[in-house]
Amino acid sequence: MPERKKIIIIGGGITGLSAVWEAQQLGLSYSLIEKDDRLGGKVHTKIVNLPGGKGIIDGGPESFITRKPEAWDLACELGLKDKMVDPGAETRHIFILDGGKPVAVPLAPIAFAKSPLMSLRSKMRMLTEPFQPAKKDDLDESLADFVTRRLGREALDKFIGPILGGIYNTNPDTQSILVSSPIMREMEADYGGLFKAVIGRMVATRKNKKNGEEKRPRFGAFAYGLQELADELVNQLTGDLRLRAEITRVAKNGGNYQITLADGETLSADALIFTTPANVTANLLNDIAKKSAAKLATIRHENIGTVTLIYKAEDAVTPVRIHGLMIPRRENRAIDAITFTSLKMPTRSPETYSMIRVFFGGSRPEIVEMSDADLQKTVQNELRELIGITAEPIEIVPFRWPHSFPQADVGHLDLVTEIENLLPTGVYLAGSSYRGIGVPDCIQQGRQAVKQAQSYLN
Ligand SMILES: Cc1cc2nc3c(=O)[nH]c(=O)nc-3n(C[C@H](O)[C@H](O)[C@H](O)COP(=O)(O)OP(=O)(O)OC[C@H]3O[C@@H](n4cnc5c(N)ncnc54)[C@H](O)[C@@H]3O)c2cc1C
Repeated sequence: MPERKKIIIIGGGITGLSAVWEAQQLGLSYSLIEKDDRLGGKVHTKIVNLPGGKGIIDGGPESFITRKPEAWDLACELGLKDKMVDPGAETRHIFILDGGKPVAVPLAPIAFAKSPLMSLRSKMRMLTEPFQPAKKDDLDESLADFVTRRLGREALDKFIGPILGGIYNTNPDTQSILVSSPIMREMEADYGGLFKAVIGRMVATRKNKKNGEEKRPRFGAFAYGLQELADELVNQLTGDLRLRAEITRVAKNGGNYQITLADGETLSADALIFTTPANVTANLLNDIAKKSAAKLATIRHENIGTVTLIYKAEDAVTPVRIHGLMIPRRENRAIDAITFTSLKMPTRSPETYSMIRVFFGGSRPEIVEMSDADLQKTVQNELRELIGITAEPIEIVPFRWPHSFPQADVGHLDLVTEIENLLPTGVYLAGSSYRGIGVPDCIQQGRQAVKQAQSYLN
């Protein structure tokens, strides 16, 4: 019998785990190489004991959109459908910091008319959106250019930019719309504009409901954190999963690849799938694919971190209900966003506690390098000044990812195609540095890379 061809998958985040899952489903022989002592990468939940219950803390993602079906479908495939919970519509009670004060994001027409966030002139400009011409080509543009073109500059600066810039921890002036919000370009292409598309999509959703199509919540999450998904993948994987395995060298020998681990062990494979961030992959590929490696190194990766603070409920009361506060960089604060996790997802902590998650690393990258004590001091100072919380938390849990949050600049998808075209045959890239950063994007890319590897091996 001919020897089974083997794939090595490098990086055990959600992309790598999904790739391995796909390999297992296709009956391929695989090894997964992860340098850390756990699997899941940025999908990382910590559970702390509190008097009266548990505090469930997601360091990275805590939910995923279901419009892109890959995360939901994977969870169902793993038998986790009943364990998924609806984290609620993330758009309610969202505020933007403007001139040092939290201002509600106006989502209803009357709130929009009354909102102090934008000038009357800008509101009138936004109302002309349905009459603005649609883009005729499918070339990339920045998020800033798209929003300015359709809704006006102030809508970008005061409204959309802080929300999307905050989600992607990036600068809307450089960020590729085709990677970060392709849906907005699809809406424009399909319906001629955003407002028309919202109405068109509402009508379509009603029709689908009448036709009995499965109703999914807009977001999916897990009661015990997103790591439930990663853990279940690990539970159901039966192949070779290696932790604390750092690669020191990748070499090519004819049609075969050899990777050397830090402990000196050498593994060989017929195909390699790199799911590590592009800046890591650039170093690993340098010996076998210099040109790709040089281009991979140009994909910027910013710092990002979150810190979750748990308070006694009475110590974390704000004058108005806030689920989220987005902090634009022009406000020059030390942190980028605040989420009231316990209001958005009440099951994350017992009723008598409030859980607040703070994002940092975008506006002041150096904060990711701070000691825990300095980080705590900085964050508490911001919470006091911005939303008036002065009490001491009873628990504080930080997560840091230095140089690990990919930035997709305009033209990013073309760059990725160029990089892929320069790779030796049998080498594939997948993950958040390439074709979308969300959990569903990563799952899609991981699984797709394995399908590509399989057809190459055949
Ligand atoms: C704070 C935060 C909040 C987020 N929120 C959301 C959200 O709400 N919804 C959503 O959809 N997405 C969200 N995201 C994005 C999403 O979580 C990530 O894009 C996704 O988890 C990345 O998965 P990945 O497997 O591609 O990369 P990673 O998770 O970074 O995994 C890469 C793996 O490679 C390993 N590795 C690195 N170097 C080596 C090496 N030399 N050898 C072997 N292994 C190596 C790492 O240890 C890691 O395990 C968020 C991200 C962050 C940081």
